[in-house]
Amino acid sequence: MAVWVDDNQHHCQSDNPTIGDARMDSPGFCAQYCTYSTMENETKHIISMVNIDKRETMRNSVVMEKEAFQQTFEALRQEINLTEICTNAHSQISALFNKGKYRDSGVHHTLDVWHGSKNLSKKIHAAGQQKGCAILQMWNKDICNHFWYCCKTADTYEEFIDMCVGVLHHVTGEHTWALGECKHGPLLDDRDKELIESGSVAHERLAEIILDERWLKVVPKYLNFRSTADLESFHNHILMYASKRFSFSPPVYAACTMLAGLDYNHHLHRPARRKADGTIQSIAAETMNNLHRTIADVMLRPKSDPSTSQDTSGNPMSYVLLLIVLMFFIFVIIVSSFSNTEIKK
Ligand SMILES: [Zn+2]
Repeated sequence: MAVWVDDNQHHCQSDNPTIGDARMDSPGFCAQYCTYSTMENETKHIISMVNIDKRETMRNSVVMEKEAFQQTFEALRQEINLTEICTNAHSQISALFNKGKYRDSGVHHTLDVWHGSKNLSKKIHAAGQQKGCAILQMWNKDICNHFWYCCKTADTYEEFIDMCVGVLHHVTGEHTWALGECKHGPLLDDRDKELIESGSVAHERLAEIILDERWLKVVPKYLNFRSTADLESFHNHILMYASKRFSFSPPVYAACTMLAGLDYNHHLHRPARRKADGTIQSIAAETMNNLHRTIADVMLRPKSDPSTSQDTSGNPMSYVLLLIVLMFFIFVIIVSSFSNTEIKK
């Protein structure tokens, strides 16, 4: 585990919100390692990285993210004044704050707004598949954009509810109603957007989604308008050091991910390289990829059974075995040439 909170270039601000996300070393349920990274929201510095081996969770890869999050949370609470942590909408992590052991921790748990918008879009899409609700598909993008706008501009839960519920009026063409009005300016008269009829099946399905009690309970977690997108960019950076095509022993994997974190922090605010005409020069990603591929090919063997595989990089026994095999071949050649000489005599 690595936690950086105070290095030479950067001092972690105690009341700065943090964002956390997990990265698996291979897709699906075959993951051997889970890396939970935490970033400062304002500065975008990586302040913590925790690696979990599947063997630490009784080979249950499903709980690796939760375990890694808990280790991160405990370590960060000891190092900084943790006030807010934003994660993706992971049910096990949300449960820790809703009714689990972090309920009274005093740390505000927030959710990635992009995932919130995506979940809302999925619900509207599913409702749009029902009979008489096809018009919802046409409004899906606009409603999700409105959700995004409400999260960004609303300061309180009540303000969010007023704005968000307004969409149920707006889609019917009603922009002023008894308790409020839309925030947008005058609309163009030549808009050809089909309206949803008030009281229709589609309108009722939409109202069920927008006014769903379970969803409204989660909504306060989106109102700080946080995003984990920068961490996903960092996870792509880890690929340069720990490709998903190879298996690693725990120390090698830990070293690779830590190098990725140091590299990312070191070059975080480096300006983009520009050509003579001022345009940004494309990164020599191909060159870097080739370099890493060469290193990986020399240092590591291809992935076999991840549960039993061990990294042989730098293992002196493998070189000794290779030497013995070579000496054996040389010995056979010498013996056979001697025998030929004897026969000729
Ligand atoms: Zn309106």
